[in-house]
Amino acid sequence: MNKEFLFELLSTGSVSGNEAELEKKIYDYMQDKADEVRVDELGNVTAILNPSAPFKVLLAGHADEIGLMVTAIGSDGTLMVTNIGGIYTTTYPGHKVRIYTKNGVIYGAVANSRDIAKNGDLKASDLKIDIGAKDREDALSHVALGDTVTFDTDVRELLNGCITGRALDDRIGAYIVMEALAEAKKKGASVGCYSVATTGEETTGNGAFFTASRVKPNIAIAVDVTYTSDNCGISEALTSDIAVGKGPVLCNNPSIHKKLNAGLRECAKKLNMEVQTEAANGSTGTDGDTMHLTGIGVPFALVSIPLRYMHNPDEVGSLADIRNCIDLLAEFFADCTADMDLKPF
Ligand SMILES: [Zn+2]
Repeated sequence: MNKEFLFELLSTGSVSGNEAELEKKIYDYMQDKADEVRVDELGNVTAILNPSAPFKVLLAGHADEIGLMVTAIGSDGTLMVTNIGGIYTTTYPGHKVRIYTKNGVIYGAVANSRDIAKNGDLKASDLKIDIGAKDREDALSHVALGDTVTFDTDVRELLNGCITGRALDDRIGAYIVMEALAEAKKKGASVGCYSVATTGEETTGNGAFFTASRVKPNIAIAVDVTYTSDNCGISEALTSDIAVGKGPVLCNNPSIHKKLNAGLRECAKKLNMEVQTEAANGSTGTDGDTMHLTGIGVPFALVSIPLRYMHNPDEVGSLADIRNCIDLLAEFFADCTADMDLKPF
């Protein structure tokens, strides 16, 4: 596992709709690890093994992150914003942010006061970013409407192989699918293996739609993060008892393909690896839902990394879970055969 490259990805801004810098890094990284690497008009990067094989398995991890977007600039030069994806607005006041402009990153401070701190109903439109500008004209000489914003924070290592950072959701997924493909090549996978770092998952799902529509996979697997029930997590009655460090999570829900889950479980068994199971109703809220409904329909599964404090600037995950997820998916790629029968009876 290339921790240095993972941390490089986690230190790159990639707010939904503005993922190109991160996608380019993945594109370059995969050049000597795949048989072919494609980029499409949205910036989706797809690494491929055995591109002429008719049976295709597509893994998707999304490269985009949640954040803010500049919508207006006040006469005093402060920036006004809207949310991109599901932010916790109250986590922003009092923090430093990065604004990704066409001339590079500039920095800002999100205004805070006793009144703002007491406002539990704070909306993104209530946030004001101070970039030190003298007035609107001064601000506009550096920032354009539509520029994206993230917390000014990257990744740190914690005890026991844990890491914390913003938007591990889902840059760790984009990293995992690429490393799994590189490992599958070493294992001699025979089917068409496709790993995509998708754009737009947090907003429109366009990246997964473009990619699955074009690849036309026989099987799709979304690789994302999931809520835990440990450390201030959500009730286990909602999504089962899930903890950081206890292995990749397989999802059971009405749309997930049972035989694919069984196949993944079999791979975990071969590797002597613990996996966790989450049970959920309805759709998954991931690229899996999008890929599932492309073309003539695509059977899919969801493999997740347990993640604490999702969509906060201090998400916590485990390097061991990431490593295990890479191994599991590489094994799955290598285990797939062109004559797999996915019909339930
Ligand atoms: Zn996600």
